[in-house]
Amino acid sequence: MTHSDVIIVGGGPCGSFTALNLAKLGINVTVFEEHGEIGVPSHCTGHLSIKNLKRLGLYPLPAKIVENIFYGAIFHSPDGKEFSVRFSSPVTCVVNRTIFDKYVAEMAEDAGAYYCLNSRVESVIFENCFVKGVSVKQHEKAEKKFLAKIVVDAEGISSRILRQTGLSTFNRHMLVNAVQAELENVKNLKTDMIEVFLGRDYAPGFYAWLIPKLDGKANVGLAAKAGNPKKLLRKLMLKHPVASKKLHKAKILQISFHPITLGGPIPKTYSNGFLAVGDAASQVKSTTGGGVIFGMTCARVAAKVAYEALRKNDFSQGFLSVYQERCEEIWGFDANVMLKVRKMLDVLSDDKIDDAINFCAKFGLDKVLQNIEDIDFQGRSLLCILRNPRVSTALLYFLLLYLL
Ligand SMILES: Cc1cc2nc3c(=O)[nH]c(=O)nc-3n(C[C@H](O)[C@H](O)[C@H](O)COP(=O)(O)OP(=O)(O)OC[C@H]3O[C@@H](n4cnc5c(N)ncnc54)[C@H](O)[C@@H]3O)c2cc1C
Repeated sequence: MTHSDVIIVGGGPCGSFTALNLAKLGINVTVFEEHGEIGVPSHCTGHLSIKNLKRLGLYPLPAKIVENIFYGAIFHSPDGKEFSVRFSSPVTCVVNRTIFDKYVAEMAEDAGAYYCLNSRVESVIFENCFVKGVSVKQHEKAEKKFLAKIVVDAEGISSRILRQTGLSTFNRHMLVNAVQAELENVKNLKTDMIEVFLGRDYAPGFYAWLIPKLDGKANVGLAAKAGNPKKLLRKLMLKHPVASKKLHKAKILQISFHPITLGGPIPKTYSNGFLAVGDAASQVKSTTGGGVIFGMTCARVAAKVAYEALRKNDFSQGFLSVYQERCEEIWGFDANVMLKVRKMLDVLSDDKIDDAINFCAKFGLDKVLQNIEDIDFQGRSLLCILRNPRVSTALLYFLLLYLL
């Protein structure tokens, strides 16, 4: 049996960022990743806020990771109305997720983290109601036990390990099935703006997106509560009044399918000797499905709390509960607001979405939204612009749309 201070299940961005932050603090940390290569397979579009990458100490990124940068977004309503918000400087970028994941993992390794690839964590080991390690199948050989004082679960949405600890997993009613494709030969791209397509015919319960890259390539995807995402993507590419003009001749270079959890963080993210981070803990924005920034933000908190627990030699859930408290301080308010907005959007009919987009465009809401300081912390951003009379009128209008 091998001993580490901390074991991390999963070498995705949240697992590796936890490992990086722990290794920098001199902690002996081992990461188990079930695949033979970090970042492969990739299921993610990789659209991230520049400001919050900077806040995490990750921006500027090496040029090979960033595929494009954007000044804002164009929203298309189901009947083809358009509303766009353009900022004065770039607000987001699209990263190649495979290279991004490798980059974070390499930084963690350089800082001293130990990576075991082809190593699937099959189960957690319990002793006196404490998680004490994991049982791992490496290279398809017999399982081996590895002990640690704390296990951090960064296994992503599968939640297999989380379930073994008895913690509640994400809200299944708020799950959408997504498809993400890299396309080439995309026409009429506005390469400095992302595009969002709303409407139940193409993305019931969510939306479709087009993230332009350079050389006529783009990441295009959608998520849906119902229907087959692959068929919906085909329909978007061939039939959507706006998207099809850009996509009908495009060729799919890569395609992947993966669910997204939109129900906000799980109710409890810790237990004795155990912390959950990233998609495993459903640390995902309910409005957009983006999970990298919040997951990594919580990963950094998890690393700090694990470090403090090791110093105090206290791995009880009483002590580890501070992890959840600190995460809630950072984005609990935003998570609640985003969940409420998601639930409101879910019930709006296409006609009402048309009205809303039309209203935003005519009412000049872009002038106010351009002043939003943070596109991830959406609750706080909303509060900041709430005093603007245009915003309060718009909110009243949206509330009426929702209620009537
Ligand atoms: C179609 C789609 C598009 C998306 N686009 C964006 C976007 O543009 N921006 C954004 O911010 N977010 C986006 N997301 C969400 C984002 O991909 C996730 O929030 C993010 O990947 C979560 O990181 P993670 O490290 O928690 O989990 P993952 O990235 O899922 O990593 C988990 C890792 O754990 C490994 N693993 C799992 N089980 C085990 C085990 N038992 N033993 C060992 N290893 C294991 C997996 O192989 C994997 O490497 C998107 C999601 C989807 C589905």
